[in-house]
Amino acid sequence: MLSVAELQAFITNYCQQYVAQYPVTKRAQQIVPLAQSLNRVLAAPIAAPFDVPRQNLSSMDGFAIATGSDLSAAPLSVVGESSAGKPFIGQLQAGQGVRIFTGAVVPSDCDRVVMQENTNFANLTPVQKHLPYQVVVDTPPTVGTHIRAQGAEVQAGEQVLVAGKRINTSDISLLATLGIHEVPTLVPLTIGILATGDELVAVGASLTHAAQLYDSNSPTLHALLSDLPVVIKDYGILADDPAVIRATLEQAIAECDVIVSSAGVSVGDYDYLSQLVRKLGQVHQHKVAMKPGKPLMFGEFSRGQATVPYFGLPGNPLSVVVGCLNFVKPALWCLAGVTEADLPIALRVPAVLTHAVSKAVGRQDYQRAHFEQAADGQCHVTPMAAQDSHRVKQLTLANCLLVLPADSAGAAVGETVWIVPLPWALH
Ligand code: AMP
Ligand code: MG
Repeated sequence: MLSVAELQAFITNYCQQYVAQYPVTKRAQQIVPLAQSLNRVLAAPIAAPFDVPRQNLSSMDGFAIATGSDLSAAPLSVVGESSAGKPFIGQLQAGQGVRIFTGAVVPSDCDRVVMQENTNFANLTPVQKHLPYQVVVDTPPTVGTHIRAQGAEVQAGEQVLVAGKRINTSDISLLATLGIHEVPTLVPLTIGILATGDELVAVGASLTHAAQLYDSNSPTLHALLSDLPVVIKDYGILADDPAVIRATLEQAIAECDVIVSSAGVSVGDYDYLSQLVRKLGQVHQHKVAMKPGKPLMFGEFSRGQATVPYFGLPGNPLSVVVGCLNFVKPALWCLAGVTEADLPIALRVPAVLTHAVSKAVGRQDYQRAHFEQAADGQCHVTPMAAQDSHRVKQLTLANCLLVLPADSAGAAVGETVWIVPLPWALH
């Protein structure tokens, strides 16, 4: 049985080969409005249409000083004003300057800015501030001081974002700065999701007998995948009936780029899904030394020349969350075409245990836990009392997963362990 790290490496390698087969440059593109581009994948590099800043701008409130001024000899003669959006129009001689505000254009015949605090401006009466007026500069600045030079940040024509970049909040800020309101993105992957089990009822329908329970995995998968550049095609709940599962799998293979299922992949008599995946496609891995979520299946189907990767998550709701966070989401970011350098990382944080934990040797445990970070940065983690994989209430109380290695038998109070904050617990 593969370890978590081994299965992750296997899937990463698989995804890299998939991307080599379907490079970003050969994928279908879609132009989307800037406001809707968050978490999409850039289909083409972005070049700056102009310099940023577009002109020399002041980074302080103060006075722009004309080139050649000697401020040790005489005060500065203030003859005008340049504020954000309202530049000074006119020419300046040595010894002259303009009152200037942060973000305002520095007149072309000025070469430095003195901050207001380094002048006697605060001591002038309102009458003494009628243009033109004089200010004494206490500490004359050197050339270039407090000027954000034109093109210092970005030069016209410069490539600022690469194809395959996952568009994040900072990218949106940069694109908006450059006036780019329509963004070339890759068409989202279509992910087919399906739940299997005779006991399942869709949320919204009535439970009619005691053996039924609501399908919580499908809504959970929708939520887990919501930040990915994907479109979800939900095939609903399939009965434990080989004919039904086969027909739906065939339909999903025809319609989707990736398929993710829950349940039916263990070795129970009614776990037809794994048998059918073997018949209709290939199983690359089945089972990982992880708790919860051991019977995780990874494989693929073919549709003509195309490959349709497949993830078969176990049925337990916690296994779905842990399996999806550990394997499915990282894989989907890669399959979606995100460049390697930009793939999201799983942050591990060391934390000190407040209570002892125990486990069986053999599998890597992901226990539900709650952590707090002290003022000095040290994290302290408290495991939830019961760790059975069907306990979903525990998960809503948890803000992290406590990771205990396969060869460990537990850890004592005060020991340092690894935790993985749940993505939705962070802001
Ligand atoms: P299975 O993998 O089919 O053996 O299912 C394992 C456990 O997960 C069983 O207790 C199922 O009832 C439960 N389960 C399977 N699918 C779902 C689902 N979609 N929502 C909630 N529980 C599920
Ligand atoms: Mg089942």
